[in-house]
Amino acid sequence: MTNIILLGPPGSGKGTQAKLLAERISVPHISTGDILRAAKETELGDRASEYMNRGELVPDSILIAIVEDRLAKPDCASGCILDGYPRTIPQADALNRILSGLDLRIDLVINIDVPDDRLITRLSARRVCECGATYQLTFNPPKKEGVCDLCGGALYQRDDDTEESVRNRLLVYKRETKPLINYYENLGLLTTIDGSGSIKEISDEIYAYVQ
Ligand code: AMP
Repeated sequence: MTNIILLGPPGSGKGTQAKLLAERISVPHISTGDILRAAKETELGDRASEYMNRGELVPDSILIAIVEDRLAKPDCASGCILDGYPRTIPQADALNRILSGLDLRIDLVINIDVPDDRLITRLSARRVCECGATYQLTFNPPKKEGVCDLCGGALYQRDDDTEESVRNRLLVYKRETKPLINYYENLGLLTTIDGSGSIKEISDEIYAYVQ
């Protein structure tokens, strides 16, 4: 059983890496951003999108309830990869409580480190598909412009990948989420990986470490 948290600023590639790692070790990939986006046109989705479009964090109470519910599902019994949660110290404290209630624990926290100037460039070049695929116009473009390689769907830019929202997300990351690096370092769970290589290089490095 392996429960792994992927930490990193927006644009660090943690979503892509979380998905690849989850496939490689056959555990569910839990992305709280994906869960919130999938809630579109529900009361939760409407509430969340107000925060998300501004690049703000959705309130802790909402996220804690989502994660508590998701971790109690049977497929998490074999472990999971958490992507985008926790993002605040209270969320991390709540996670410890939720996991110990399920007789589980965090095994490893992988922090993906990417210099600030690269993050803004990466996020503004990101294009996504409804099927979950993510592309970078610069270093991981689709074969045909605007079309998903996997399902043929139309690619689009996330509402929170606009320059203004991106800048705010980076500020919020520094204020709220970055302190989690020390939090998990103090618990002896943290390892930091350089996130500036290729998707495959980073994925192989993470996989080797997890093994
Ligand atoms: P992501 O897909 O991980 O980049 O998340 C997109 C947006 O969803 C974030 O900018 C937040 O507005 C919201 N969100 C996702 N996860 C959390 C979380 N753990 N706490 C608060 N807000 C979150």
